[in-house]
Amino acid sequence: MIRLAVSIQGVVQGVGFRPFVHGAATKRGLCGWVQNGTEGVRIEVQGDAEAVRGFVQALRDEAPPAARIEHLVTAELPPRPEVGFAIVTSQNGAAARPTLPPDLSTCGDCIAEVESPGERRHRYPFTNCTQCGPRYTLIERLPYDRPNTSMVRFALCPMCRREYENPTDRRFHAQPIACPACGPSLRLLSPDGAALASGDEALGLGVAALHEGRVLALKGLGGFQLLVDATSAKAVARLRERKRREEKPFAVMFLSVADVRDICIVGAEEEALLLSAAAPIVLVRRCAGSAVAENVAPKNPLLGAMLPYTPLHRLLLAQANRPLVCTSGNLSEEPMCTEEDEALVRLRDIADLLLVHDRPIVRPVDDSVARVGLRGPQVLRRARGYAPLPYPFLVGPSVLALGGQLKSTVTLVKDGHAVVSQHLGDLFSPEGVMLLERTVKDLLTFFDAKPEVVACDLHPEYASTRLAERLASEWRVPLERVQHHHAHVAACVAEHRLQGPVLGLVWDGSGLGTDGTLWGGEALVVDGAVFERAAHLRPFSLPGGERAIREPRRAALGLVFEAFGASAAKMLAAMFTDADLSVLQGMLERGLQSPRTTSMGRLFDGVAALAGVRQRAGFEGQAAMELEFAADGVDDRTAYPLPLRDGSPALADWEPLLRAVLFDVERGLGPAAISARFHNALAELAEATALRAGIPRVVLSGGCFQNLRLAHAIHHRLVARGFEVYLPELFPPNDGGLSLGQAYVAAMRRKEGRCASVSPVK
Ligand SMILES: [Zn+2]
Ligand SMILES: [Zn+2]
Repeated sequence: MIRLAVSIQGVVQGVGFRPFVHGAATKRGLCGWVQNGTEGVRIEVQGDAEAVRGFVQALRDEAPPAARIEHLVTAELPPRPEVGFAIVTSQNGAAARPTLPPDLSTCGDCIAEVESPGERRHRYPFTNCTQCGPRYTLIERLPYDRPNTSMVRFALCPMCRREYENPTDRRFHAQPIACPACGPSLRLLSPDGAALASGDEALGLGVAALHEGRVLALKGLGGFQLLVDATSAKAVARLRERKRREEKPFAVMFLSVADVRDICIVGAEEEALLLSAAAPIVLVRRCAGSAVAENVAPKNPLLGAMLPYTPLHRLLLAQANRPLVCTSGNLSEEPMCTEEDEALVRLRDIADLLLVHDRPIVRPVDDSVARVGLRGPQVLRRARGYAPLPYPFLVGPSVLALGGQLKSTVTLVKDGHAVVSQHLGDLFSPEGVMLLERTVKDLLTFFDAKPEVVACDLHPEYASTRLAERLASEWRVPLERVQHHHAHVAACVAEHRLQGPVLGLVWDGSGLGTDGTLWGGEALVVDGAVFERAAHLRPFSLPGGERAIREPRRAALGLVFEAFGASAAKMLAAMFTDADLSVLQGMLERGLQSPRTTSMGRLFDGVAALAGVRQRAGFEGQAAMELEFAADGVDDRTAYPLPLRDGSPALADWEPLLRAVLFDVERGLGPAAISARFHNALAELAEATALRAGIPRVVLSGGCFQNLRLAHAIHHRLVARGFEVYLPELFPPNDGGLSLGQAYVAAMRRKEGRCASVSPVK
């Protein structure tokens, strides 16, 4: 007979952990108790030594899917007389330093219940339990108890109360517990706000509208979504036109993995991601004969697929009996609507009908996007199901980092953990900026934090920078400005907890450099708080600056002009009207509105335009993506010459590459081969850069590394040369990861006693 004290830290509250512990103990005939504490879960367990060991092993191996054990410590205690195993009520204020669970996809037990005609929750869209359901989207404040959630307005019926209070029930202390008798319900609204139907009838009419090709706005888990029949090109076109989203791919929701597999290639890892508690949108490869309309993801071999993550979505999908486009309820790149009143205004011209419910959404949380990357799952947009899971971080001062301008996130560091907010979208609209500010307040209140340092980007015009300046001055704390690409590397360093110097290959659209030009094809040697620019792309001018993002042909013109001067216009005459070309050429000649850049994203654009892939883009990165896909299945080992010229920093001279591309275009080589040769050139460049720097650890980050062909080719070469290669996996390689990196650099500067200044360059 032995008695053990077990203390567990990690995500162990609000995920059905205590009932699980209770079950694991009673199954083995053990006695003792389990309790939520300020630091996690505490257990004392007593019984036969073998059984106790089995119990501790089970804690690790069989924990509920959404639980995450970070630390598990045991200590032996003297046995004492005790009978049975109890779930002891929480210590007062037990949730003072919580690890808050994110929203969790519907569990198998709840699905079975909703689908069983005899059950009282049969077809009930808001069914949940301790292992599933809304969390972050309904919590107003801590501790995580029902009165502190948006479920406060729904008084528990006697049946639900019995489940809630029974320690052995799977709904024991399930804060969002609900049933048809006492919980939220559905309503169908017309765009002018008139109530048309409620309950199951509302759902049925919503589905009927989808069948007719209409656009249904759905109040989902973390905000409004827009749904249309994914098999109808006409319905999809209608949604695109109204949402003003021309070609950017839409995500599609399927009822089951089997349905996804009917039209896409789903490997074991993709399947696990689709079925995970986070239930993100998973990028999968389409196969031929797709039942989903082509304009769902035009010219794109990938499809963003997801499974229903609430009973409401599941009921809709089952009744619609076909896959549904499921996209954020907003105009392009604005935050999602969360309230009916707001939706009736903002979605008025987009939606034909609104299917809503009366459970308030406390904060907008969009769907996450993930894929199977080089070494397992990789999160590309971190929101529902992942945020706000804390991540172990440097112990030091509390830091608030405000991120960039696109794919914005906020990071709060407190007590050795970093909390990265959900993806907030772009900050160009007033709604976007308001959401950023709200999220900051929200996180500070939630985690009761008083930041001692604020961090932001170097770019003075980012809305996030302006907010950081204001907050730092209001709070009278230092402001740390962190160079964009330094932050990209630092995010990956923080994620993998790397020590000492790393070489960061950071390739992206652009971020402001310390010399005032737009960087984006960088090799930085990063050692904590400092970095050195080891190499970069040879600079060129972008006529019209930001406008070039939507017009890859401008990047092509900038490159050709840099290499050949005035004769450039003649060479690219086919891409422009005469008038446009002479204006742009004039801008380049006089250096007007033509910022200098080393952007890899723009080099991709330029090559895509020259190869005839695309002259104009509907969204940033579209041309680069299509260039990547153009090389699908092509096994051309030729690499364009892209020499790394000695210097400090070294210069990757793209001019020989440009000449070779022009030569291939001239002789009629297609985009497939040009793309393959371009990717090969970049892989060789990465290898040459790594060999020159001679640092054993290499980080690959920045938006360009969303390109799997590129990431794969570089990874392969560097590993073969003996380098250790790291990529962002839990946090996005794009600008969604910036806030984490900024927080890391700011914390390291404090730790190393460096003043609030930009790190040395050159
Ligand atoms: Zn459940
Ligand atoms: Zn009830």
